[in-house]
Amino acid sequence: MIVMKFGGTSVGVPERFAVATGLVAEQVPRDPVVVVSALAGVTNLLVEFCRSTTARPALARQVEARHVDFARDVRVPASQLEPLLRAWQLEAESWLPSHQVIAGADRDRVLSFGERLAAELFAAGLRARGVDAVAVLAGDAGLLTDQRFGAAHPLPDVAAQIARHLGRRPPLPVVTGFLGRTADGRPTTLGRGGSDYTAAILGAALDAEEIQIWTDTSGLLSADPRIVPEARPVARLSFAEASELAYFGARVLHPKTLLPAMDRGIPVRVLNTARPDDPGSLITHDAETAESSWRVKSIACKKNVTAVTIASTRMLLAYGFLARVFEVFGRHHIVVDLVTTSEVSISVTVDDPSRLADAIADLGGIGQVEARPDLAVVAVVGEGAPTHVGLAGHVFTLLGGVGIGVEMISQGASRVNLSFVVRIEDADRAVRLLHRGLGLDMERMEAVTGRAEET
Ligand code: ADP
Ligand code: ASP
Ligand code: MG
Repeated sequence: MIVMKFGGTSVGVPERFAVATGLVAEQVPRDPVVVVSALAGVTNLLVEFCRSTTARPALARQVEARHVDFARDVRVPASQLEPLLRAWQLEAESWLPSHQVIAGADRDRVLSFGERLAAELFAAGLRARGVDAVAVLAGDAGLLTDQRFGAAHPLPDVAAQIARHLGRRPPLPVVTGFLGRTADGRPTTLGRGGSDYTAAILGAALDAEEIQIWTDTSGLLSADPRIVPEARPVARLSFAEASELAYFGARVLHPKTLLPAMDRGIPVRVLNTARPDDPGSLITHDAETAESSWRVKSIACKKNVTAVTIASTRMLLAYGFLARVFEVFGRHHIVVDLVTTSEVSISVTVDDPSRLADAIADLGGIGQVEARPDLAVVAVVGEGAPTHVGLAGHVFTLLGGVGIGVEMISQGASRVNLSFVVRIEDADRAVRLLHRGLGLDMERMEAVTGRAEET
C-alpha cells in the first residue's frame, strides 16, 4: 500500500483538486490511503476565529462560504457537506456571545473543522470518479494522542491501533491530517503543518511501500523558493539530510515527518500536484546510490530565533554546570537548537521565546544571562559536507565578503549540517549568497533524470 498526502494548496485550488483525485484514482491498484490538509488558508481563518472575538461572526461565514463555493467549483453536491457545515455553524454560534480567546481543547476542536471538511470533499471527489472512498477522522483511524492540545504527541501504541482500524480496505480511507484524539474522545492537533506527520505515522503503522507528500513545489528544493526563486529540486536526499532541512525551516515537510518513516525505512517522495509528471525528491536511508563524494544539497533558514548566553567564571572546570543549565530549559519545556561553549560561557539558541522570561530568571541563579532576540539560524545541508576541508572557510569568507556577521557556529555535531546564526535582517541575503556561491543554482543532471533511475 502507499500513503498519498495532499496539502492545502493541492486540495484548495479547484484545478489541482481535480488533478489530486485523478492521481489517487490512477493509483488504486497500489492500495492508497489518502491524508488531506484543510483547504489552503482555512486553518489560518480558524486560528483567527479563535483569537479575535470581534471578527468571529464574519470569519464563521467566511469558513462556510469557502467550502460551499469550493464544493460548487469541484462539482461536489452541497448535500455531502451539509451535516458537517451544520456542525460548524453550531460550533461557531456557540462562541458568538463569548468575549474570550478560544484556547486549549476548544481551539483544537474549532481547528479540526478545516481537515474534516477537506476530507469530506476529497472523499466525495473520489466517489465522483467511481472510487469507493470514505472520509475518516484520524481519531477513528486509531490516531490517539496525549492531551497537549495544539502540539499533541501520538501515544506509544498508535501503530497497532491504526493497523487495526485501517486494516480493512476498500473503501479507500481519506484521513484527516493534522488531527488526533485523546483517549477520552476530544480532538487534538499535532502542530501547524502537521498533516505531513500524520501521513508518516499512518505509513509506518501500515508498513507502506512509499509515503508521497503532494505539495506545490517539485520536491524539496535547494532553498526556500520565496527566498531564492531559482531554487531547484534535489532529486535524492537521506533521511538525515531531509530531517535537518525540515527542522531548520524547510516548511515543505513538518519537522517530525521523517522520524516514523526512518524507523521503518519507508521511502518518502515529495511531489508537485501542479506538475505531477516532475520527478520530485526521493528521501531514503541512503542519499546517493553510487556517488561517494559529498556536496551541499540545500540551505534552510529558521527565523525569529533568540540566543541565550550564560556566563560564569565558576563554570571553569566545574562539574555539572551544563546539566544545571539544561535542567532549567527542560523544566520550562524550551527546546534548544544550537549549542556552543567556551571555558566560561555557554550559548544556546531557542525558537520559542514565549516561555523564555521565566527560564532566564532561573538561569540568573547560575550565571550572568544575556538574551539576543531577532536572529536566524542558517543550515547548510549535505551528507559529509560539514567535515569537508574548506567548506566552512568558503562559507564564512563569502559571508565576510559582504559584511554579514556570524554570531554563532555549530559544525562538528552533525555529519550533514553546518549551521550558523546571523541577524534576522541578514538571513535572506546570506541564503541567496550561499546558494549562488556554493553552486546550488547550477543545473544538475540528477535533477532531470532522478526518477527514471530510481523506479
Ligand atoms: P502544503 O500545503 O502542501 O503542506 P506548505 O506550504 O506547508 O505546503 O509547504 C510548501 C512550501 O514550503 C513551499 O511552497 C515553499 O514556499 C516552502 N518551502 C520552504 N523551504 C522549502 C524547500 N527547501 N523546498 C520546498 N519548499 C520549501
Ligand atoms: N492545516 C494545518 C495547518 O495549516 C495542517 C497542515 O497544513 O499540514 O497547519
Ligand atoms: Mg505543509
